[in-house]
Amino acid sequence: MDIITRLSEFIPPDRMSIHPDELAVVSKDESTLEPVLPQAVVWPADADEISRIVIECRETQTPITTRGAGSALEGSTIPDVTGIVLDVSRLTDIIALYPDDLQVTVQPGIIYDDLNNKLKDEGLFFPPAPGGSGDIATVGGMVSTNASGIYSVKYGGTREYILQLEIVTGTGERMTVGSRAAKRSSGYNLVDLIVGSEGTLAIITAITLKLAGLPEARRQTAFKFADDISAAKAVSEMCRYGLDLAAVEFLDRALIHALNRLKDYGLEEVPCLFLEFHGPEAVLESNAELAESICTELGGAPLVLADGQRPWEIRHYATDAVKHLKPGHGIIRNDVAFPISRLPEMVKFCHEAAGEVGLTIHTFGHVGLGLLHALILARRENTEEWQAGLKLSDRIIRKTIELGGTISGEHGIGLGHKNLFELEHGPAVELMRKIKRQFDPDNILNPGKIFDL
Ligand SMILES: Cc1cc2nc3c(=O)[nH]c(=O)nc-3n(C[C@H](O)[C@H](O)[C@H](O)COP(=O)(O)OP(=O)(O)OC[C@H]3O[C@@H](n4cnc5c(N)ncnc54)[C@H](O)[C@@H]3O)c2cc1C
Repeated sequence: MDIITRLSEFIPPDRMSIHPDELAVVSKDESTLEPVLPQAVVWPADADEISRIVIECRETQTPITTRGAGSALEGSTIPDVTGIVLDVSRLTDIIALYPDDLQVTVQPGIIYDDLNNKLKDEGLFFPPAPGGSGDIATVGGMVSTNASGIYSVKYGGTREYILQLEIVTGTGERMTVGSRAAKRSSGYNLVDLIVGSEGTLAIITAITLKLAGLPEARRQTAFKFADDISAAKAVSEMCRYGLDLAAVEFLDRALIHALNRLKDYGLEEVPCLFLEFHGPEAVLESNAELAESICTELGGAPLVLADGQRPWEIRHYATDAVKHLKPGHGIIRNDVAFPISRLPEMVKFCHEAAGEVGLTIHTFGHVGLGLLHALILARRENTEEWQAGLKLSDRIIRKTIELGGTISGEHGIGLGHKNLFELEHGPAVELMRKIKRQFDPDNILNPGKIFDL
């Protein structure tokens, strides 16, 4: 019996589809990679059903790509042509809230912003805050990519908040890894293996998160600089001084130009830093003063935004602004991360290398973590130009690895960055393959993502 017939024996028609329109929706993510139509999409009801689906898929050797919101940027959510998509976006419940422990257990499909809206009344929040996708990304997707965001410089990325996971492995076995204890020294840390594994080791069916208390007060401020390097230097200086930054986002001149074109912000087209501080008022005041003195020493000046303009709203449109800047151009994307002191050097390298091949590049990101998005624009139908863009992207990654950094600080490897994965990890990739086989002996969970078996 084929997989569709097997699944339709226990999944009702309103939770399974082979309709081309619905398959088209789950055939892609937010990367610029080609969509792939799967055989079917299923919306499971619970973990028991997920386990049964996995068992049926294993018996028929059918690949499964788990999908949250499909906002991944490196093709990790693009399915296999012979496989099915297991869409968990309908599993959106808060299973249990433990306000006294600052913890919550949720289903994987709950959306980041929705969760935080519900936690507000308790004075709590889940901090990582993906910059432009908090309104769509699911918590399961965030765990699977170890997402981070504007507040990660102070609070850390998703990994720092995962206490316990309920999972279904590639054999259909259900288990719980981790515990609700805030600190543990009990055996191997399987939670950390699942975090960032892009759906290749297990399907996450429940997540217990550690939460943070909402800050007493917040202050946002912005600075403009004459050049990218001074802005980048200001960030490493602020970190060196131990300034308690809740967020520090760098936006280069090219990005400010793209934002003006998209939204008519009327911003001066110079590199900028957007900052936020959290804490009691007195602390905010002294932090803001220290930030200003560091920025002005490096030639920066306060950036006054027009009435009604908010820094994070402007930042939210960064990717969209680049996407719409040059009709007929596609984005070749990098989200490299490296030791913070290398930020000025990396920004300079990106712009010089792009200049050498005559391509436009935009650099921005959560730079307090040494995390830089480098978005290259090139015409896809112009093979020579597109290839030059891909080569430029590889040069940026090679430079990052040379400086002790990593290919991906937050978006993952997916399909988009597989080619240089061995360069970063060397023989450790073979160990990763062995681990994958333990969780998923038949290689049915999101096969071909991160590395090939
Ligand atoms: C405009 C824009 C801005 C963005 N900004 C940021 C940012 O600031 N920071 C950041 O980190 N990311 C950012 N992203 C990327 C993306 O939003 C994150 O990677 C997010 O965590 C993906 O969540 P999702 O629900 O869309 O996951 P999906 O795209 O559906 O899935 C991502 C991966 O997780 C796996 N997966 C999903 N759910 C499960 C599950 N329950 N069990 C097992 N595996 C699962 C999938 O198979 C896939 O490999 C941005 C994306 C866009 C489009």
